[in-house]
Formats: sequence, structure tokens, C-alpha cells
Amino acid sequence: MEIEIIKADITEIQVDAIVNAANTSLLGGGGVDGAIHRKGGKAILDDCVKIRNKQGGCKVGDAVITTAGNLPAKYVIHTVGPVWNDGKNFEEELLKCCYLSVLELAVENNIKTIAFPNISTGIYKFPKELAAEIAINMISISEHREQFEKIIFVCFDDENFKIYNDIIESDFEYK
Ligand code: ADP
Repeated sequence: MEIEIIKADITEIQVDAIVNAANTSLLGGGGVDGAIHRKGGKAILDDCVKIRNKQGGCKVGDAVITTAGNLPAKYVIHTVGPVWNDGKNFEEELLKCCYLSVLELAVENNIKTIAFPNISTGIYKFPKELAAEIAINMISISEHREQFEKIIFVCFDDENFKIYNDIIESDFEYK
């Protein structure tokens, strides 16, 4: 399994699944969520509404899968990251759950290539470095890691690009 770090817009990545940092309503929002719904078109929202009608949205730490509509990816896996408060409200554990849930769904759907944004680090204010460490660690220790061909961490800005590269280049070990 290959890990790649790129600076790009996740809506333009051609992979089996891109990951969306969604909210519990699944009805779209700002940041990466807004960009995915805007560019992917109504088909994504239609799928989200069906899921909402069935299970009432998506809990923090869970994930759901939909079409990617007009995007070059095949699927969107929507996960809901925690809002960072003071770090004492299980934020780290919940973010780990996001990665676990996404990888489980990916395996169930025979997805081999996935692109992740830095979940929770925009509007939800999770510290970027800690979030990137969790992301890389959860992929590294995943029992499913050998089932994937490629995992891409898509950085929207230079700051995230540097953070991910610094972690990968260091002998990073998450505790
Ligand atoms: P959250 O509500 O989970 O914090 P945001 O969308 O605000 O979600 O931010 C999550 C991450 O996604 C941030 O690192 C932000 O820079 C990044 N991001 C925003 N738009 C895009 C995009 N089009 N492609 C990739 N990453 C993006």
C-alpha cells in the first residue's frame, strides 16, 4: 500500500473514494463538504437524503457512502469529525473512529484507492498537526491496510502539506 501526500483540491482527484468531512445532518455545509456537493451535483445530496430518511443522518465518528455524482471519484465516503473544544471531550478518540469507520466502509465496498482531507481541522478547529498524526497513524496500524493500493492525503494548503510531509519524514510514532 502506497501513501501519497499531495497539495490539491479533493474534488478533482480520481480515486475509488474521496472522503468528505461532513456534518451530522448530511445535508452539506461549508469547507470541503460545500465544495463536494457543489461540484458533485444533486446526486450526492439525493443519496444523503435517502440515508437520512433511513437512519437519521450520521453520528460523529461514523461514516456513510454515496455516489460521487459528477466528480471524477466513484464514491464519496462522508464522515463526521468531532468539533474541537478543549481536547477533553473525546475529540481524539472520535477522530480515530472517523478513520476506522471510513476504512471499514471502504473494505466493504471493495475500494482500493482513497483520498482524505484533514478531517475536522477547518470549521471544526481540531489542531492540524494532531489531526494529521492521527490520520497517518490510523492508516498505518489499520488491519485492512494491505487491502488498499493507495491512500492519498490531500492537503488544501501549504501548511497542511508541510505538516503531513514532516510527520512522514520523521520517525513518527503516535502514542
Ligand atoms: P471540518 O468541519 O471537519 O473542520 P472543513 O471542510 O472546514 O471541515 O475542513 C476540513 C479540511 O478540509 C481542512 O483541512 C480544509 O483546509 C480542507 N479543505 C477544504 N476544502 C478542501 C478541498 N476542496 N479539498 C481538500 N481539502 C479541503
